[in-house]
Amino acid sequence: MINDENNSFRDRLGTVDEAGKRIWVYPKKPSGKFYDLRKIISYLLLVILLASPFIKINGNQLFLFNVLERKFSIFSFTFWPQDFYIVVIAIIIVVVFVALFTVVFGRIFCGWICPQTIFLEMVFRRIEYWIEGDRGAQIRLDKQKWNAEKIRKKGLKWFLFFIVSFIIANVFLAYLIGSDQVLGMIKNGPFTNVSTLISLIIFTAVFYFVFAWFREQVCIIACPYGRLQGVLLDEKSLVVAYDYKRGEAEKGRAKFRKNEDRKEKGIGDCIDCSQCVQVCPTGIDIRNGTQLECVNCTACIDACDFMMESVNLPKGLIRYASEDEIAKKEKFVFTARMKGYSAVLLILVGILTGLLFLRSEVEAKVLRLPGQLFEHKGENISNVYTYKIVNKTARDYESVSIKLIHPKGKLELVGKKSIKIPKEEVVQGTLFIEIPQALLKSDKTEVQLEIYNNDELIDHTKTNFLGPRSFN
Ligand code: SF4
Ligand code: SF4
Repeated sequence: MINDENNSFRDRLGTVDEAGKRIWVYPKKPSGKFYDLRKIISYLLLVILLASPFIKINGNQLFLFNVLERKFSIFSFTFWPQDFYIVVIAIIIVVVFVALFTVVFGRIFCGWICPQTIFLEMVFRRIEYWIEGDRGAQIRLDKQKWNAEKIRKKGLKWFLFFIVSFIIANVFLAYLIGSDQVLGMIKNGPFTNVSTLISLIIFTAVFYFVFAWFREQVCIIACPYGRLQGVLLDEKSLVVAYDYKRGEAEKGRAKFRKNEDRKEKGIGDCIDCSQCVQVCPTGIDIRNGTQLECVNCTACIDACDFMMESVNLPKGLIRYASEDEIAKKEKFVFTARMKGYSAVLLILVGILTGLLFLRSEVEAKVLRLPGQLFEHKGENISNVYTYKIVNKTARDYESVSIKLIHPKGKLELVGKKSIKIPKEEVVQGTLFIEIPQALLKSDKTEVQLEIYNNDELIDHTKTNFLGPRSFN
């Protein structure tokens, strides 16, 4: 690692000056191979992110995270509080996946997939470049006194930022409370649901604050994933790295001079143009080595490649590489830690897949009424039960019946012939089961039941049946 004797840059954040004041970052507009690729991926992800809560499959929203009503839908599979164990396993899988990904590929998630980066770099900053111009123009505009030009540019920018924040807040709410509610509010007017309106205003304000002012500070000081980097990264992780061996050589970096032989002079390939620093959205100098602030956005790779090409030096002075690849010229290896994480991930994915297939869309529970024993009814013994049926689907069940399968006997719902269960609802009630005493082999018999909607078998369950202690 370079600068071992001068690691003072690690003492404070790149965006904070010696007096502790924030240094506003004016990143130069990136351009290049990686930026073009990131644009394509980002816009694709943006479309998915914005459209997902409005897509429904079998009546279920593609993604819903309704914490208040405890209703969750992931890839249109609805999850109820009863399915919480599946959600927990899914969360563990995401955590292991992100950890594995980070161990192998560093913070690739931050630079390429994280919604914060995508919205900031590909939406808000692009609006800023469009209205205020590139880095130099933005610095000049901020320094200049308020005049018509500044009021027009800042006003337009803040207005557009507000509109985009408002759109994001609507989509965010659609993920939280459901797109039907949000669309209903748009159709019927904002005052039809005051609590939703208040949430919308709060979320708009939060997004505006984050993207207009807080910006890269989210990644640097607020994001817990960013804080984990120190633990997850090792010298074999692939990160955006400056090849200090090549860039510094024996005598360090030096400005470019035409027709000089840098090798002969012992100076490195870094021409100290500071382009990599100027494009960095987190305000750091990648030449100081891997830093917590780096979100692996690749903007410095593009900037450096452009400079290398311009001065006829090989590209890749800043590139995706591991510390070992640069220091020891070692090739990428699949380490024991990576193998361990992969094995855990595979096992968890297997368990989750099994659970998803085994999970029923209807969940019936029949339990004996507490405190009740049994009753003699002629030749039969009768037990009383409560039943609870959860319809997790997005369709109404019009005529649900419960059938006694084993042992032979009869089952009677109290007060009705069949049960109606609207979509995503729970129905509870009471029922009697009567079994001829001759069929009871002990004082506790297992009873098997099947649940039908018309003729369609939708679930099966078991319960206990109590009878007298003595049998002949
Ligand atoms: S150092 Fe490079 S990759 Fe890291 S955040 Fe800055 S520009 Fe992006
Ligand atoms: S862009 Fe490349 S050449 Fe220029 S200062 Fe950065 S590392 Fe050195």
